[in-house]
Amino acid sequence: MAKMRAAVCPEPGRIIMDEVERPEPGPGEVLVRVCATGLCGSDLDGYHGKHPMIGYPAIMGHECSGTVAAVGPGVSGFTEGDAVVVEPFFVCGVCPACLKGQYNLCVDLLIIGHQIPGSLAEYVKAQARFLHPKPACVPFDEAAIAEPLAGSLHAVKRAGVSIGDFVVVIGCGTIGSLALQHVLNAGAEALVAEVKPSRADLAWRLGATHTFLRPVAGGPESLKSRVLELTGGVGADVVIEAVGKPETLAETVGLARRGGTIMLIGWSGNPSDAMDMTSVTLNELAVLGTLGFCWDHKTALRLLETGKVDIASLITHRVGIEDTERGLQMMASGDDQVGKIIVWSSPA
Ligand SMILES: [Zn+2]
Ligand SMILES: [Zn+2]
Repeated sequence: MAKMRAAVCPEPGRIIMDEVERPEPGPGEVLVRVCATGLCGSDLDGYHGKHPMIGYPAIMGHECSGTVAAVGPGVSGFTEGDAVVVEPFFVCGVCPACLKGQYNLCVDLLIIGHQIPGSLAEYVKAQARFLHPKPACVPFDEAAIAEPLAGSLHAVKRAGVSIGDFVVVIGCGTIGSLALQHVLNAGAEALVAEVKPSRADLAWRLGATHTFLRPVAGGPESLKSRVLELTGGVGADVVIEAVGKPETLAETVGLARRGGTIMLIGWSGNPSDAMDMTSVTLNELAVLGTLGFCWDHKTALRLLETGKVDIASLITHRVGIEDTERGLQMMASGDDQVGKIIVWSSPA
């Protein structure tokens, strides 16, 4: 059996570089030589033993780009050396959701870096149907971020953001800052609420119409009064929650206008979070969830290719794969200067 090097998490709180079995591409599958992986909050949750889909030992990483190393039986359209972006799903293709085209809701959905080996390794296996050609002008590190770009696109499209809307985006991490750009591209006004000054500043640089830096001891009321002030007492057409804390999930209801929409991208992991359901009903709010992406990667890559989104500003650090754990610890530190971290598995 061929071997490869990988950043393995044998148990929560530890990453080691190890020699592991190299995946073999089966029918309809492709082996990708990984170039770049973006570290995600879910990788950090996995490292801390707090991700429900990640068991141990784990090879994490799901935001990735690379080149085709080998194709399995029945795969056409890809040859060795092709530069690709991986959409990190494995689906059955025959369940009711798959047959409806809603493959992100597949009953047997498996996510690369969660239930199956991820891209914090030399090689990763993917389904050929979820490989996308990397646009030549997009560098490998930025191409790896197509994954959260597609996820945020899926959420913003589901929320029905349209021209002239007033949208509140809570949180300007990777997902929030990408959602912000989709909201602005859709012709809407956006207010971004953040606790970190560097992220509020990023929102500003990305073109946010308004930024709200939460006062250290301030409560949610102050954000609500700002939103009401800016909307003539009406409230936001759409509220996008991209933090996933119980308090920010709860505050969404008070920010939306009557008949408005709440999009919950963030999730706390709690089986239930407090939300004022009486107001949801009496104000006829639409509260929507979102899972990954579904037919969004092609658009996301086109947005990158045509320069309609800024990914470069989000990337603050780049490390080699042997420094994966250091990268995760940098994320965990809460350092204001740490944004998206790229891990190189092989040179671009
Ligand atoms: Zn992710
Ligand atoms: Zn399915």
